[in-house]
Amino acid sequence: MGFEFDYDLFVIGAGSGGVRAARMAASKGKKVAIAEERYLGGTCVNVGCVPKKLFVYASQFPELFQASSGFGWSLAQQPTLDWATLRDNKTAEIERLNGIYNSLIDNSGAHLIDGRATIAGPHLVSVNGETYKARTILIATGGWPYIPDFPGSEHVLSSNEMFFLDKLPEKAVVVGGGYIAVEFAGILNGLGVETHLVYRGPKLLKSFDGEMVDKIIHGMVAKGVNVHLNTDINQITKAAETLSVAMSNGPDIEAELVLCATGRQANTANLGLETTNVLMADNGSIQVDRNFATAEPSIYAIGDVIDRVQLTPVAIQEAMVLVDHLYGDGRAVIDYRDIPTAVFCQPEFDTVGLSEEQAREEYEDISIYLSDFKPMLQTLGGGTDRISMKLVVDNESDIVLGCHMVGEHAAEIIQGMGIAIKAGATKAHFDATVGIHPSAAEEFVTMREKTR
Ligand code: NDP
Repeated sequence: MGFEFDYDLFVIGAGSGGVRAARMAASKGKKVAIAEERYLGGTCVNVGCVPKKLFVYASQFPELFQASSGFGWSLAQQPTLDWATLRDNKTAEIERLNGIYNSLIDNSGAHLIDGRATIAGPHLVSVNGETYKARTILIATGGWPYIPDFPGSEHVLSSNEMFFLDKLPEKAVVVGGGYIAVEFAGILNGLGVETHLVYRGPKLLKSFDGEMVDKIIHGMVAKGVNVHLNTDINQITKAAETLSVAMSNGPDIEAELVLCATGRQANTANLGLETTNVLMADNGSIQVDRNFATAEPSIYAIGDVIDRVQLTPVAIQEAMVLVDHLYGDGRAVIDYRDIPTAVFCQPEFDTVGLSEEQAREEYEDISIYLSDFKPMLQTLGGGTDRISMKLVVDNESDIVLGCHMVGEHAAEIIQGMGIAIKAGATKAHFDATVGIHPSAAEEFVTMREKTR
């Protein structure tokens, strides 16, 4: 190149993937910079997984208060929610995590630069008026909520703002049928907001096992969410504090808040990519090969910005595989099959492996084992919740291809099932495993009768 590099690796974006890559590269003795314009920890820590899960916990208390009476408890007074306390305690916890990220970066030896970085050439990154020379540049800028354009769309919120509301609305409309829409519908409903979930398609969570999604919809409706399927938002008009939402189907809804959870787009705008050969897909995400290399040999990209699987643990694993490729023995690989995932809707849904629909496409002969029962808490506590579990098995090899669960603690259970599926466990392995009694999880190892 004819010039000395300031850094071996310059990471743009201090989210889950960027921070992991910076720390791992620094631990291998590389000179690393990481630039961040907004908040440390990215979407997951600040306006995603972490505050969302805190809100999910908050929204589950009313059902627990209700259930407690069957166990002999009486509450001295009707519990009430102070939204400001929840929001501010959440923010304090996120700030604590921001501090931890700061120390992790500092302790790794990577150099944190506070500012918006742009690429000025295949080896050049500019931040705060300084231009740095980097042997390798890593783009880990993540994604940003996408809001469709329609009359009145300027009145809607994205998930980003939901974490900082001044006050909780009495009535809200949530638009979309993916992870974020169903999760926020459950949160708002649990916190006592009259919630309308509006989705344009016939079924929520369309890429997941259809039978399990039916159970989720049934559970959400039983908890009080108003689900409007096959419905588009035509227009929103604002009068004083109220938004009037005109829908393609049914009467208008008057609400104080409309959340559009209509997908996320890669953060690649104004990044300076035109100074390089980096190629983008039509949706703005960066195209990379199996080693996360872009079409520009010195530039790599990982995480939501490459739009493969938008999940934090995937971005972290991509970071580790990339650092191994760049500075290790290059043997680490990422396998995008059998990634366990949780949708923290209510009832919760967790899954690993193939849905029944996918398995029927890929395999000739499969069996389905299905179990549906009341959680034990309900025996004394009452309530409408069910737990549903499903195994999808290849009859030829007896391998369990997919494992799905709707119900309480599903994420805690499916994480372990993920190991079994990854290890290629057969139905015979499941059957030979002793259950933990009494638990919901034991049902996964006691499903003897084929459902079909
Ligand atoms: P998703 O891609 O999951 O869902 C987007 C939804 O918006 C779909 O139902 C889509 O409908 C709908 N939509 C898109 N465009 C329009 C439009 N113009 N008008 C009406 N509806 C529209 O995106 P999310 O925003 O929910 O989440 C983004 C990603 O973040 C997820 O895919 C997931 O990878 C990740 N995530 C993970 C979580 C977890 O692990 N628990 C939690 C939250 C997010 P259609 O299906 O018809 O296209």
